[in-house]
Order: sequence, then C-alpha cells, then structure tokens
Amino acid sequence: MFSRNRIEFEKSIVTKMIGFYCKKLHHSEGVLCPECAALLEYSHKRLDKCVYQNDKPTCSKCTIHCYKPDKRRQIRDVMRYSQPRMLLRRPHLVILHAIEGLFDKFNKKKASGKRHIYK
Ligand SMILES: [Zn+2]
Repeated sequence: MFSRNRIEFEKSIVTKMIGFYCKKLHHSEGVLCPECAALLEYSHKRLDKCVYQNDKPTCSKCTIHCYKPDKRRQIRDVMRYSQPRMLLRRPHLVILHAIEGLFDKFNKKKASGKRHIYK
C-alpha cells in the first residue's frame, strides 16, 4: 500500500499543502494564485523526474534537495505553514506521511549491513 504509488501520494500531499497555504495566505478561492500554481507545477515535475521514484524517501527529506534554491525556499514555507495546520484537519494524511518517514529510517538501518543481528 505504501510504496506502490509513492510518487502519486507525494503529489497529492504537495497539492493539498500548496492549496491550503495559498487559500489561507493568498486568499485564493478554488484556483491557485500564479505563484503557487507555478510552484505546484514545478514540484510535480520534480517528482516525475525523481531518480528514486517509488523508493524515494518522504519529500521533506528528499525532494527539497533537488529543488532550485528559490523554489526550495517556497516549498519549505508551504510545508512549515501547512503541515502543523493540516495535522488538525487531515490527520490521517499527515500521520501517514510521518509514518512513511519512520519506515524509511527503519529500512535504511536494516539495509546498512548488520542484517544478521536481527534474528
Ligand atoms: Zn498562492
């Protein structure tokens, strides 16, 4: 369930976060303002080109590192604003996202050798 459509999942998260951010801070109604629309398009393109594809870590750890500096700053603002607020409104989504991050950590630990320790 988790990793099959990872890119699609990341896209839906980023779409919701930018939409939420734009509505609250730029007072857009239903349609994103040009700035946020460009950011959304850019982030979806980054996801399409992501070298990790379905093995990628969650976006907070990975995607922003392949963003251009100005876009990275923008998406960081969006996440900083939307993540805690969306946690109240759509806890299942944000929690899922956080859990994925934990799984990534765990998998990395497991993959970094010493596998024989886990009996
Ligand atoms: Zn906006």
